[in-house]
Amino acid sequence: GADKTKNVLILMSDTGGGHRASAEAIRDAFRLEFGDEYQVVDPFFCPVISSSDALLLYLKREVEAGLMEYKPDIIISVHPLMQHIPLWVLKWQGLQKKVVFVTVITDLNTCHRTWFNPGVNRCYCPSEEVAKRALLDGLEESQTRVFGLPIRPSFCRSVLSKDDLRVELEIDPALPAVLLMGGGEGMGPVKKTAKALGESLFDEELGKPIGQLIVICGRNKDLVSTLESLEWKIPVKIRGFETQMEKWMGACDCIITKAGPGTIAEALIKGLPIILNDYLPGQEKGNVPYVVDSGAGVFTRSPKETAKLVAEWFSTKTDELKRMSENALNLAQPDAVFDIVKDIHELSCQRGPVSSSSFVFTSSFSSLI
Ligand code: UDP
Repeated sequence: GADKTKNVLILMSDTGGGHRASAEAIRDAFRLEFGDEYQVVDPFFCPVISSSDALLLYLKREVEAGLMEYKPDIIISVHPLMQHIPLWVLKWQGLQKKVVFVTVITDLNTCHRTWFNPGVNRCYCPSEEVAKRALLDGLEESQTRVFGLPIRPSFCRSVLSKDDLRVELEIDPALPAVLLMGGGEGMGPVKKTAKALGESLFDEELGKPIGQLIVICGRNKDLVSTLESLEWKIPVKIRGFETQMEKWMGACDCIITKAGPGTIAEALIKGLPIILNDYLPGQEKGNVPYVVDSGAGVFTRSPKETAKLVAEWFSTKTDELKRMSENALNLAQPDAVFDIVKDIHELSCQRGPVSSSSFVFTSSFSSLI
C-alpha cells in the first residue's frame, strides 16, 4: 500500500545529456520492476563546478532542503560532484546509518577520481576498468558492483524485428543502413561525414546505391536544414531529436557517432558496429579504447575514411561487419539498469524504512553560519 512506499531521491545535474538520461533510466526501471513500492523524484540540482565557499554553502542548504522535503529512504547520485556534500549533510543530521546512499557512475572507462567516495553504500561501476580504479581510490570491494551503464528500459525490452522497424520508420527494406549522429546536441563532423557517405555509398559503375543513410541531428536544428538543402544520390533520412532511439538503432546495420557513453552503450545493446569519429577531451576519451579494444568498432576522425569503411562493410567486408556486431553484443549490458535497481532494493530492505521523524532537523547546518 501507499504507506509502505519508499522515497528515492536522485541527485543529478543537467550538464550533459548523460546524467539526466541515466537518472531517467533508473526512475523508469524502479517503476517497471517495483511499481508503487518506490516513489522516485529527481529534483534538478545544478552544481556549477567551482570551489567557492558561497556555492558550497548554497549546495548544503539545497541538499538539506531536499532531504526535508522528500524524506528519502534512498539517495542515488549520478553526478561526481553530488556525493561529498550530501554525504556530509547526512552525517551531520545523524542519517548516515538510516538513508541508503549509492552512486551510479556514468563514465564508461576512464572516469575522474571525484566519482569515488568511500562514504557511499554502493558504487555502481559501468565496467571492470572503472571498478579497478575505484578500488585503487580506497573503496572496498564490497562497495562496488559492475552491472554496466544504466540505459532506458525501452532499449532492452524492445521486441520488434529489423524488418518491422523499417516498415514503421519508412526505411528501404533491402539496402544496408548506416546511422550517423553526434549525441543529443548533434556534434562532431556530421555534415562532412554525411556528404562523404553520399558519395561512397553510390556505386558509379552500377549506377545505384549500395546503402542508405539515416542522420539524427538531435537538437541541432541548423544541421537539419543544412543537410536537407543538399542533393543526394542515395536514400537519406534526416531527423531532428528522436525520442525512440531504440527503433532507429534497431533498424540500422552500423553507427557513426562521437564517443558519448549513452550512445555507445545503446549501440552495443543493438549490436551495431561503431565508428567513433570524435570525443570530448577528458570525459569521453576513455570510451574510445573501450569500444576499439573489444573489436566492437573503430576510431577515425576522417570523414573520407569513415565513408570508405562503411562502403566496404556494405559490399566486400560484410564478414567484418558481422564479426564486429557479435563483439558489440558481447560487450553490451542490457540488464544493467535492472540489476542496479534490484541491488538498491536489497540494500534498502536490509535497513527497513526511515521514519519521517528522522528528518525533523533540530540543528540546521545553515543556521550555524
Ligand atoms: N539521443 C536521443 N535523441 C536524439 C539524439 C540523442 O534520445 O535525437 C540520446 C541518445 O540515444 C543518448 C543520449 O541522447 O542516450 C546522448 O548521450 P551521449 O552520452 O551519447 O552523449 P551526450 O549528448 O550526453 O554528450
